[in-house]
Amino acid sequence: MDQKIDVAGNLKKLISEINNKDVTLVAVSKTKPVERLMEVYDTGHRDFGENKVQELLPKQESLPEDIKWHFIGHLQRNKVKYIVPFVHLIHSVDSLKLLKEINKQGRKINKEIPCLLQMHIAREETKFGLDEEEIRDIFENHLKDLTNVKILGLMGMATFTDNKSLINSEFSFLKTMFDSLKAYNSLQNVELKYLSMGMSNDYKIALENGSNMLRVGSTIFGERS
Ligand SMILES: *Cc1c(COP(=O)(O)O)cnc(C)c1O
Repeated sequence: MDQKIDVAGNLKKLISEINNKDVTLVAVSKTKPVERLMEVYDTGHRDFGENKVQELLPKQESLPEDIKWHFIGHLQRNKVKYIVPFVHLIHSVDSLKLLKEINKQGRKINKEIPCLLQMHIAREETKFGLDEEEIRDIFENHLKDLTNVKILGLMGMATFTDNKSLINSEFSFLKTMFDSLKAYNSLQNVELKYLSMGMSNDYKIALENGSNMLRVGSTIFGERS
């Protein structure tokens, strides 16, 4: 079944629908075999997203070096050290403790690790993320000392629902939060430019609310089993 999915065609269709070169499309390839990723790679696409370290590492080793790997899942602190040498962007920084560990591992290898702070915007308790107060605390009181991370923006996941107005209000809230943090661009390790929101079922609503980074899996690769 999976073999028949035209991943390159799906990607092309999606890119033409988005029709905006300023929007980064992250092809979420979790659970998909490297052959499928290569079909997307061969179209010239370079941004791929994975949510598990144990899946990302073997893929990174066997695939071309110029792939930009986005880490989008909940990241355990003891696994940070494995991905910092090559990761392009960590979208899912959901605690200060995790941010400090990323900073520590970045320092060890003398790198500044690009990160997004994940904000909890959904109704569901199950989703990870920082609340507004925690995010403001990080910018106000901690980033000055965390010189081996670079904060490039925010990420959020809306409630999984058919209720479009709920999704809309959650994305709109995240965009307002994003804009309200712009003053912190004066910090040396802050450059707020990415708003990562929107997946297969809600990317259109995300774009309407100012997203410039989409994380799309099943629309490109087909449903995951
Ligand atoms: C799986 C996943 C996606 C992509 O989901 P689709 O519905 O397949 O597009 C996006 N973001 C995160 C954090 C994910 O875990």
